[in-house]
Amino acid sequence: MSNSDWLERTRAALWHPCTQMKQLEAMPPLPIARGEGPWLIDHDGRRYLDAVSSWWVNLFGHAEPRINRAIVDQLSRIEHVILAGCTHAPVVELSERLARLTGLGHAFYGSDGASATEIALKMSFHYWRNSGRPGKTGFVSLKNGYHGETLGALSVTDVALFKDTYAPLLRLSHQAMSPDWRLAAPGEAAEAYARRAAADLAAWLAEHADATAAVIVEPLVQGAAGMAMYHPAYLAELRALCDRHQVHLIADEIAVGFGRTGTLFACEQAAARVSDIADFICLSKGITGGYLPLSAVLTRDEIYAAFYDDRVARGFLHSHSYTGNPLACRAALAVLDIFAEDDVIARNRGRAARFTALLAEVRAHPRVRHFRHLGMIWAFEVDDAGPDFAADFHRRALGHGVFIRPIGHTVYFMPPYVIGEEEMRLMVDTVLTLLNT
Ligand SMILES: *Cc1c(COP(=O)(O)O)cnc(C)c1O
Repeated sequence: MSNSDWLERTRAALWHPCTQMKQLEAMPPLPIARGEGPWLIDHDGRRYLDAVSSWWVNLFGHAEPRINRAIVDQLSRIEHVILAGCTHAPVVELSERLARLTGLGHAFYGSDGASATEIALKMSFHYWRNSGRPGKTGFVSLKNGYHGETLGALSVTDVALFKDTYAPLLRLSHQAMSPDWRLAAPGEAAEAYARRAAADLAAWLAEHADATAAVIVEPLVQGAAGMAMYHPAYLAELRALCDRHQVHLIADEIAVGFGRTGTLFACEQAAARVSDIADFICLSKGITGGYLPLSAVLTRDEIYAAFYDDRVARGFLHSHSYTGNPLACRAALAVLDIFAEDDVIARNRGRAARFTALLAEVRAHPRVRHFRHLGMIWAFEVDDAGPDFAADFHRRALGHGVFIRPIGHTVYFMPPYVIGEEEMRLMVDTVLTLLNT
């Protein structure tokens, strides 16, 4: 079957995510037949560089042999089993390893990022209730933050296009000043601005901490805001504030975890371990290398202990059918093995330095503003971009064999960790051509 056969059937049978379906008349989706490293290949044999890691989930390319082998091996053992009343090796091993890596523990699993957000919010609220503080029911998140789109997650998300329509269904929360350094005053350094944002939150918490269960943030990079980046001093200040006011800190590392920001977890850039910053960490996206849906929430022993009781209702009774799926856990274990075997964090430093150097001409381009880079994420705004900029840029980049999806006027690269010189040059040449025409 060719591309056009699949397009026709797609239009008739599917509803795509984050898509006004009518726009597919002008901009049909790519019918992908297979993947190979950082490349996507359609049914007519055309190749596209996956510069957004398939919506930020892919780490080591498509059809990675070691992850493939782990899943195939697991298939012959047990593909799935209920996790209430049963346990299994992959879920135990993954939980132990994530605990060693984060300093948090008692992993609770869901199937996607939004469900991890829901789990962390519910756990935090329930902890305070079990601890005799039932009035702590509110949540704080950052302006322009994103934590998923189920109703609970959407209530702490601040993206108008996704949220405003559903506002009547949501339990609205407070959005604090974002530490995003693009918003700093002229001449104000990123760190000084981050501290000013923390002081703003301090003033709010001084009044509202008694009614607040948790602050939820995306550490270092607000992805959906357009890869907004901020100084790690904000996270250290936030930890101190949360201690002072007895409010939990939820680190949503769904997008930034697993090496994206240059350390295994973003919180490690503010303190030695994740547990020095966060009371809860939410993980998903890269956790399985982009293979299978899986998310996890890890927390502190003392939070876990507040649920451990003879009374059933004091337990955390949340459940999803596919909790701790063995195939997904094996993919995640293979991902952690690759981090160790290939010394991924160190190798990415070299890769990132090379790509940043190649991007010098983009950075200096007269239409480019706020060029920024952290770990394996690069982003910039394009001046004088019209209302159709994102769709137009996306469509034209496909003509050069590159799959990029700008957010508004922001162009970003979030490639798999296996891009080489050829792929880097293709991304740079494509963007330069599009900026010049
Ligand atoms: C993608 C994302 C989510 C939601 O994850 P889904 O799997 O899409 O539900 C939550 N938080 C952050 C920071 C994300 O980037």
